[in-house]
Amino acid sequence: MSKSDFLAEVDQYSAHNYHPLPVVLTRGEGAWVWDVEGNKYLDCLAAYSAVNQGHRHPAIVQAAKDQLDRLTLTSRAFHNDQMGPFLHELCDLTGYEKALPMNTGAEAVETAIKAVRRWGYQVKGIAADQAEIIVCENNFHGRTTTVISFSTEHSYNTDFGPFTPGFKIIPYGDTKALEDAITPNTAAFLVEPLQGEGGVIIPPEGYLAQAAEICRSNRVLLIADEIQTGLGRTGKMFCCEWDGVRPDVMVVGKALSGGFYPVSAMLADHEVMDVFKPGDHGSTFGGNPLGAAIARAAMKVLVDENLAERALELGDWFMNSLRQMDSPHVAEVRGRGLMVGVVIKPESGTARPYCEQLMQRGILAKETHEQVVRFAPPLVVEKADLEWALEQIAEVLGARVPAHS
Ligand SMILES: *Cc1c(COP(=O)(O)O)cnc(C)c1O
Repeated sequence: MSKSDFLAEVDQYSAHNYHPLPVVLTRGEGAWVWDVEGNKYLDCLAAYSAVNQGHRHPAIVQAAKDQLDRLTLTSRAFHNDQMGPFLHELCDLTGYEKALPMNTGAEAVETAIKAVRRWGYQVKGIAADQAEIIVCENNFHGRTTTVISFSTEHSYNTDFGPFTPGFKIIPYGDTKALEDAITPNTAAFLVEPLQGEGGVIIPPEGYLAQAAEICRSNRVLLIADEIQTGLGRTGKMFCCEWDGVRPDVMVVGKALSGGFYPVSAMLADHEVMDVFKPGDHGSTFGGNPLGAAIARAAMKVLVDENLAERALELGDWFMNSLRQMDSPHVAEVRGRGLMVGVVIKPESGTARPYCEQLMQRGILAKETHEQVVRFAPPLVVEKADLEWALEQIAEVLGARVPAHS
């Protein structure tokens, strides 16, 4: 089949719930992917940070193959010999006492919502059905009906109502608004340490630390959604570390499986996790041995290859190089580690055409919101690859090529 056949087929048979770049990929290795015509691209999206370890990391491939040859799914009706070690290693990596495995990020967020609501009733003593969760404008926490109930992005929830009540929306980065929004019925504050989908929005210095203090003094649980920011992406293993914050609840997903298989988890200590009793919550595939074996290998790669430090070093250098380009079209370059947003000036058009031009030159980046081009390559990317990418980006952004350091 030709590229246009593939595109026509998807146009005919797929729901039109995405607007992908017109590239049909068939193979990947490390930071690079190939299309059906044999063209090679530097993957600067990394599946929204699910492929931090790089495409088909050999150690994860081996773990997946080995586990495929043994056992793939037991359901939680029985034990398997991969889930325990997986949760143990995940707790060691994150510093929590307990973990609850799910599959997608949205499911882990839903799990956290259930947990903090129940904690609100059974531990904090909130009256039945009165629990409130505070969330932020411009958030992204997934696509389930409950999660889009508190989205402020119209395309995410228009005509999908009626919505789940019990959420209060405040501006992101505003600790005064958080203080004002808290009532005796507040169970939790759910926040992204940095808003990825929202356009790589970095909150003011010390925001998370102050928010954590406000939560603590009001007996409100802090839930950090580290699904995109966690597992090395921002130059720390978890983005909350930038503020020295240990949230009460953390949700992880995406790179937890290195892009092999959907694996997510909610993490907390006993006080919160013990609200779950047998039969209260579950998932047929959650904690399955294949996903668990893959996640164990994926976490080991992050640690063994120091990918968080790598993200920090490469990210700082990459952002500085982008800033030095001095492009007439760029309003701002911002980010942390290898989560980088290049904001296109409104008078220079939207981000999409720049992404299309980058694709022509062998770089796959995706716009987020109208004006932001996000660069978030696999953390195993080579500096030389990024040097090459910077030359292409400079051409597309109409600027001189920066001198390499
Ligand atoms: C991707 C993402 C989710 C949802 O994860 P899915 O696996 O797509 O359900 C939730 N929160 C954040 C911050 C994300 O980036």
